[in-house]
Amino acid sequence: MGKSGFVAILGQPNVGKSTILNGFLKEKLAIISPKPETTRDNIRGILTEGEDQIIFVDTPGVHKPHDLLGKIMLSRAESSLMESDILLFVTEKKYAFNKDDENIRTRLPLPPEGKKVIFVINKVDKVRPKELILPLIEKAKDFYPFNDVLPMSALNAKDIERLLKLIKSYLPEGPLLYPEDQLTDKDDYFLVQEIIREKVLTHTFREVPHSVAVVIDEVKEEGAKNTLKIYATIYVERASQKSILVGKGGQMLKKIGEEARLDIEKMLSRKIYLNLWAKVYNKWKKDPNALRELGYAD
Ligand code: GDP
Ligand code: MG
Repeated sequence: MGKSGFVAILGQPNVGKSTILNGFLKEKLAIISPKPETTRDNIRGILTEGEDQIIFVDTPGVHKPHDLLGKIMLSRAESSLMESDILLFVTEKKYAFNKDDENIRTRLPLPPEGKKVIFVINKVDKVRPKELILPLIEKAKDFYPFNDVLPMSALNAKDIERLLKLIKSYLPEGPLLYPEDQLTDKDDYFLVQEIIREKVLTHTFREVPHSVAVVIDEVKEEGAKNTLKIYATIYVERASQKSILVGKGGQMLKKIGEEARLDIEKMLSRKIYLNLWAKVYNKWKKDPNALRELGYAD
């Protein structure tokens, strides 16, 4: 029998969790953005190699929830911890643990719970000289009984390979849990939404990026042209945000739509017609009904 299990990736926003996940899967599944807190769901990537299978959970950044959406995100992060066999505690190069690290520590399993916890110090490519990370490695011993400490760079394929090897060494024996050709348990709709949201995040500014929700309204085949037509709505919380999103003469929304369409065509390997609408949904992040409608609550 091979090995299989769940691996949760946790750490503060922006430390490189999604980059690590993408490095394992060599595909763009989780969205990567220079703005923090862009991962809003436990995106699972599934890596199957021969008889071994690893299911990755990319947990949303953990912070004190300010609204209902924040609470939902936090509870999703908690449940992905409960179901995992191995936890990667990712931090980026720095020389001490801070308050946020301590918050994360309170969520780690108490030892002897059976879960393995690996401490990953990411972005060491930015550290010169390398010896500067040594104090942190030393402090890690007092911070938590990590099973392993790995300084690495998610941008370096060899380091990704080293981390993967380490994970496999801790993985329990087990059967394949998903079909071997499956890359993620999210369906294409979800990935289409995420592509559109990523484009909004890259092109907009001020509070817009954190106020958007994307909903796919309709998907239909246009047989004659062999085109898939996708109609989606981008919700924002205020009229002022909508005008930023739409842009002068609709330029911004058009640009977002064009870039998203190209990525979706690549992902689905077919011709896409994408129609985007921008709408205001008052305070959707605080409204339980709105959250349910927009797909954030079960
Ligand atoms: P997340 O919020 O933890 O998921 O972080 P992301 O994976 O979205 O990464 C945040 C930013 O850090 C992106 O701009 C990445 O390209 C960058 N990044 C991630 N890992 C590394 C690394 O090892 N070295 C460097 N220099 N940049 C990195
Ligand atoms: Mg992320």
